[in-house]
Amino acid sequence: MTDAPSAADLTAAPADSSKGTLRILQLYPREMNIYGDYGNVLVLKQRLAWRGYGAEILEYDAGDAFPDDVDVVVGGGGQDSGQVVIQDDLQAIAPRLRELAEDGTPMLLICGLYQLFGRSFRTHDGTVIPGIGVLDLETRGGTERLIGNVVATSEEFGEIHGYENHSGQTFLGAGLEPLATVTKGAGNNSEEKHEGARYKNIVASYLHGSLLPKNPAIADFLLRTAAERKFGSFAAAGVDGSRADPARQHAGARPR
Ligand code: GLN
Repeated sequence: MTDAPSAADLTAAPADSSKGTLRILQLYPREMNIYGDYGNVLVLKQRLAWRGYGAEILEYDAGDAFPDDVDVVVGGGGQDSGQVVIQDDLQAIAPRLRELAEDGTPMLLICGLYQLFGRSFRTHDGTVIPGIGVLDLETRGGTERLIGNVVATSEEFGEIHGYENHSGQTFLGAGLEPLATVTKGAGNNSEEKHEGARYKNIVASYLHGSLLPKNPAIADFLLRTAAERKFGSFAAAGVDGSRADPARQHAGARPR
């Protein structure tokens, strides 16, 4: 691959950022970044660049100073052991994350961090990892792993494609809306056919893959929301859709 981005490319400002630059914060890339989750940040950056916006990628790992002026927050998945490693640090930055969430900052939270934005995660061996309670949900580790390709439908985003691999079974509180209804796979748990959660400008999901390359409607929701909050408008045109459409078709045709 000649066009694979180098580490320097990922943090450098793109050539054309004439419309302004969004600051995208990736939470815990060392521990919470599996099954290609970092690709979500690359999609946001590329979709901004096509439109003449810049993206400044900020990475926050345990012990770092929490950055100011965050426009989008992105968090990925991780092993139960990784979730244990970050738990104390996550509690330390919880007030900042709560403030950002309640203020309407767009966030994409995948799998392990989706679980930890809830109230708590009791793993299959009985360890209780406290969450930060932004999302009214509980997760319990089951004996069965929920693994495979997922298709789910949402009124807001259409058909959503991704890949799940988790033992946690997540149950939403009465007032919290799921992101989508599952038509293939499990999603939040093995009973309800719900996938993810939707709160304020947060999109939370079990789906890896990465999620955003195959689901540009979600990417553009995050970008539009962030740009309108920061600049008062969003210049949406200019995107090259020639890769996302075949990727969605391919993903939809995969077996469970
Ligand atoms: N460790 C969590 C679970 O198994 C999250 C897994 C993930 O992020 N893929 O439920």
